[in-house]
Amino acid sequence: MNELQKKDLEYIWHPCSQMKDYEKLPPIVIKNGKGVYLEDVDGNKYIDAVSSWWVNLFGHSNDRINKALYNQASTLEHVIFAGFSHEKAIELCERIIKVAPKGMKKVLFGDNGSSAVEIALKLSFQYHMQVGKKKKTKFIAISDAYHGETMGALSVGGVDLFSSMYKPLLIETIKVNGPDCYRCPYNKNRETCNAECFESMEKAIKENHEEITAVIIEPMIQGAAGMKMYSPNYLKKLKKLCDEYDINLIADEIAVGFGRTGKMFACEHAGISPDIMTVSKGLTAGYMPMSLVLTADKIYDAFYDDYETMKAFLHSHSYSGNPLGCAVAVETLKIFEEENILDTIDKKSKYLKEKIESTLLDIEYVGDYRQLGMIGAIELVKNKETKEAFPWQDRIGYKIYQLALKKGVLLRPLGNVIYFMPPYIITKEEIDIVVDTARECIEEYFSNNK
Ligand code: PMP
Repeated sequence: MNELQKKDLEYIWHPCSQMKDYEKLPPIVIKNGKGVYLEDVDGNKYIDAVSSWWVNLFGHSNDRINKALYNQASTLEHVIFAGFSHEKAIELCERIIKVAPKGMKKVLFGDNGSSAVEIALKLSFQYHMQVGKKKKTKFIAISDAYHGETMGALSVGGVDLFSSMYKPLLIETIKVNGPDCYRCPYNKNRETCNAECFESMEKAIKENHEEITAVIIEPMIQGAAGMKMYSPNYLKKLKKLCDEYDINLIADEIAVGFGRTGKMFACEHAGISPDIMTVSKGLTAGYMPMSLVLTADKIYDAFYDDYETMKAFLHSHSYSGNPLGCAVAVETLKIFEEENILDTIDKKSKYLKEKIESTLLDIEYVGDYRQLGMIGAIELVKNKETKEAFPWQDRIGYKIYQLALKKGVLLRPLGNVIYFMPPYIITKEEIDIVVDTARECIEEYFSNNK
């Protein structure tokens, strides 16, 4: 352990970590990043195959974004956003509305994904109170959903690992079984099914619609649950039923937005437009903590009135509309437009698919392979036939992560799911290194643990 690592452990409590683990594998202290590479203080380099928790789009220390950030910092770093505004916020919101699903008309600011989810939940609840649907106080929580770590976000999530400890504190929700395509109880295939699994949602909505304010969903991919992908038909059915029963549809595009699935926003795969949409992560290309909540006119209109009616949305964050974040986000959207990023994603995701298919699928323990756009994932199972999972206590993903680090690749699996979600600037050669390394590490793990 080097001196910096010792000091780190003396003072820092890292996110989503059992700190005791760091005694064996201390936090890697990164000195700089360039492109897909991160370099630590000892000179070791790592390919960032998970875009540093799904945020980075165009590589570390990107020249265009650096410049935009520098220029903004030397002009205006921050200004209170109630009663004041600034050019970059205005430009950002105009640009985002142009590329968002049609129907998204107004933009609110948060400072991270979870705060955007809190805003979305509060907006939906208050909307229904203000349009006179006072019984609509409940949210639907889909199994395996993930929407962040704050209390509201945890309440509408469905990953027990993160939420079960806090159950007594969470708001009551209506639970629904979501899609589970790899272990589909209907024996269907996600490419060809008609989202038969929507049955559980349909029943919950039909039985409880008078009480339901919103359904929040990760469009196309449940990220934290292990990149679980499902049919766009599920979203189409959901949109239709939400409209029918006056339930707000909240699309959480925090992980899947900004091209990750091959489209600018994942809702486009189903051709739907939600009532409320949350974005963050790629919004600032991995530079600044910032989030946006986009709303349809009907939501906005229910809050618009004389002050005395007390219908305003009295929610704020100190850093709402932060100019540094806005300048970076504007540059991100410009890069998308000027550098044809969606075309690049199309080409690179095809190559990623080819490479995974030719390199990993013959491994005895690779049960499922799923990919949409630049997100590819394999699920390791004990038995391919029965799809029996490895016990979580084996921490297979974590052990493969350790092996990959030694070989210079940052793969941070989700349980027994190893996934690839690299920055879009990754080259074919770098994709080869990442996927070949994954194979070597999986083989090494299993040959030592038979
Ligand atoms: N929603 C989704 C779909 C996410 O993937 C995440 C983060 N992984 C969040 C919300 C929460 O975002 P943050 O970590 O910025 O609070």
